[in-house]
Amino acid sequence: MAKALSSTLHTVSRLSRPSIPRTTRLTRFQTRPFSITPRRRLMETSGFTEEQLTVRDAIFKICANFSDDYWMERDQTETYPHELHAALAKDGWIGIALQEELGGAGLGISEATMMLQTIAESGAGLAGAQSIHANVYATQPVSKFATKDQRDRFLRKIISGEWRTCFGVTEPNTGLETLKLKTLATRDPSGDGYRISGQKIWISSAQVATKMVLLARTTPLEEVKKPSEGLSMFYIDFDRSQPGLEAKKIRKMGGRAVDANQVFFDNYHVPKDALIGEEGQGFKIILHGMNAERALLAGEALGLGYAALKKSTAYAKERVVFGRPIGQNQAIQHPLASAYMHLEAAKLATYHAARLYDRSNPSRPDYDPSITQHAVGVACNSAKYLAAEAAFTACERSVMSMGGMGYAAEYHVERYMRECFVPRLAPVSREMIMNFIGEKSLGLPRSY
Ligand SMILES: Cc1cc2nc3c(=O)[nH]c(=O)nc-3n(C[C@H](O)[C@H](O)[C@H](O)COP(=O)(O)OP(=O)(O)OC[C@H]3O[C@@H](n4cnc5c(N)ncnc54)[C@H](O)[C@@H]3O)c2cc1C
Repeated sequence: MAKALSSTLHTVSRLSRPSIPRTTRLTRFQTRPFSITPRRRLMETSGFTEEQLTVRDAIFKICANFSDDYWMERDQTETYPHELHAALAKDGWIGIALQEELGGAGLGISEATMMLQTIAESGAGLAGAQSIHANVYATQPVSKFATKDQRDRFLRKIISGEWRTCFGVTEPNTGLETLKLKTLATRDPSGDGYRISGQKIWISSAQVATKMVLLARTTPLEEVKKPSEGLSMFYIDFDRSQPGLEAKKIRKMGGRAVDANQVFFDNYHVPKDALIGEEGQGFKIILHGMNAERALLAGEALGLGYAALKKSTAYAKERVVFGRPIGQNQAIQHPLASAYMHLEAAKLATYHAARLYDRSNPSRPDYDPSITQHAVGVACNSAKYLAAEAAFTACERSVMSMGGMGYAAEYHVERYMRECFVPRLAPVSREMIMNFIGEKSLGLPRSY
């Protein structure tokens, strides 16, 4: 990692390691007032670590170069926000949660969640966060399970911003029943790699990605004992100019700056070393990225919710009807106040989940072996659910409290409203999270 903000990131990464001797720079951070977040932000920042607050501060500074009008225009013209990705890559932020020896910052999902929340909260919304997030979460299983040689070849260019990644799991005919997915990777008869055939759907950023994390069957469903077996994870070149690969954009409700696609594989060739980890172990491997994704998406939902409340409270202070600001009426003030409290509660769940995820990683100095993967799964799913619902409440109440202007594009909350459905239904729907909690935490019979 080089360039302008690399020193901030190196400082942050040092701060994340309690075992590393404290440096002069660390002392400088310790003497700062506890909260470095400007007062204009709504979220209460007490209790966050100095690393998280430093990330928040630096990301807000970068995002300040991208105005609300920039995001409105990207949404309306369905144009990818390449400039944000370039600005974050330039300063080393894409590798926030990847190893330092690869050029990353070596931080955790706790700091990455703060980064994505901040991007969304800056006004970039879910579109801004989604233009970055697969590069952060989908690379987690690659960084953990790939060989050193694969990591070097695959991840350095993601961190530098030269390459971008997409995540290919969902299929049109299987939906949330991931274990039934049908895309097949068969050994090429020549002995050189695999041939991929099948279909994926809703793949974000497939129009701009150079790599894809792909979950495919290497043993057909009918031939395995358990559906979780026979799946393999690949990190493939996503080269749309090659035969056998096509990506078609899906028209959608919100987040229009970032494309979502149907992807068709027809005998598409990938080399042998695109396989990450062992053949047949792909489901276990990819789960590592899925829990991270839930924590990040929870952060993105929070950012969107706080962004909406910031707009609506500012409007409620200024808009005068019947001789007083509308925000002086409790019918306007109370729904916004309760939406704020829901966001604050979801914030606690989100950063608790991110902390459990990080501290369950044996390679970290703060590893806690008592944290089970079950606990991480419960926390990450719960956080995603709670943050998505809190964001929805904040966006809906913001639109309603602004009257007609809540519906006008130039006031931006209508864009946030359209975007806030995504964390409710992806990467796993709220119904499936309740099924999971009902079964795994409450011990009720499996309902699906
Ligand atoms: C904007 C966007 C971006 C996305 N990006 C990606 C991406 O980059 N990569 C990727 O792989 N996927 C991506 N997805 C896909 C997303 O993860 C899926 O849409 C999501 O997992 C839901 O799957 P589905 O749409 O097939 O719903 P379905 O599985 O068809 O389910 C439909 C509805 O039925 C409900 N339901 C089904 N079964 C049950 C049950 N037993 N009990 C209760 N309710 C049930 C579900 O909760 C849901 O509400 C994206 C989706 C969107 C909208």
